[in-house]
Amino acid sequence: MKTRLRKDRARLLRGVLSVLERHLGRRRRRRPPDLLETLLHSVLADAGNDLLAASILEQLKQELVDWNELRVTTPRSLELLIHQLPDAAEKALAVKRILQKLFTERHALDLDHFQRFGQARVLQELDAFGGLSVAVKARMLLKAFDSNVLPLTAEIERVAKRVGLVDSYLTTDKVSEVLDEILPCKRIYSFYHLVAEHAETVCVLRGYACAPCVLVGLCARGKVVMEKGDSK
Ligand code: SF4
Repeated sequence: MKTRLRKDRARLLRGVLSVLERHLGRRRRRRPPDLLETLLHSVLADAGNDLLAASILEQLKQELVDWNELRVTTPRSLELLIHQLPDAAEKALAVKRILQKLFTERHALDLDHFQRFGQARVLQELDAFGGLSVAVKARMLLKAFDSNVLPLTAEIERVAKRVGLVDSYLTTDKVSEVLDEILPCKRIYSFYHLVAEHAETVCVLRGYACAPCVLVGLCARGKVVMEKGDSK
């Protein structure tokens, strides 16, 4: 990316973060996170829907005696428990796979042993569960291990494109490269959580309204929409 463009986009990103922080509050790491719970949340929120996944996980915790009850639940029943989430059937299978592997190999439904591992080993262990996406693994590293890795979900990508942080025609790999260039490491945690929440509650996939959005003064799509005199 050309220097001038990079500077403009970095400035835009700082502006977006500052507005979102003002409206949603700063996002700080929760310590110490429960590692298994963080992984299950990451799986449920795979392509986005962090808030919904967190609320469903909380509901499961209230209703179930322990994670073992989830382990012995049939995939179909688990799918029904999380049916509001996209790809519920695949997510149910992934959750079952994780719990079953821990039960069979470690006789304990926790990930406390991960605390001894560095990032490379954590990724290796996550790969061993099978089928976890790049975003799930990145979310785990970001939330549980203080690694500054951005989980590039479909929601983050959508907002980044609409706001104008990246060009709308870019592939996900290219979006990741551009965001790497303009997002300082120490702001990744905040950026991820604030933009994910904004994507889930305001700049939703369909039927989003720009007029009341707090980013409308900065956002490329918002400006076009407002110029056309359309509230959407
Ligand atoms: S102004 Fe519109 S397109 Fe831009 S972030 Fe807000 S809702 Fe999304």
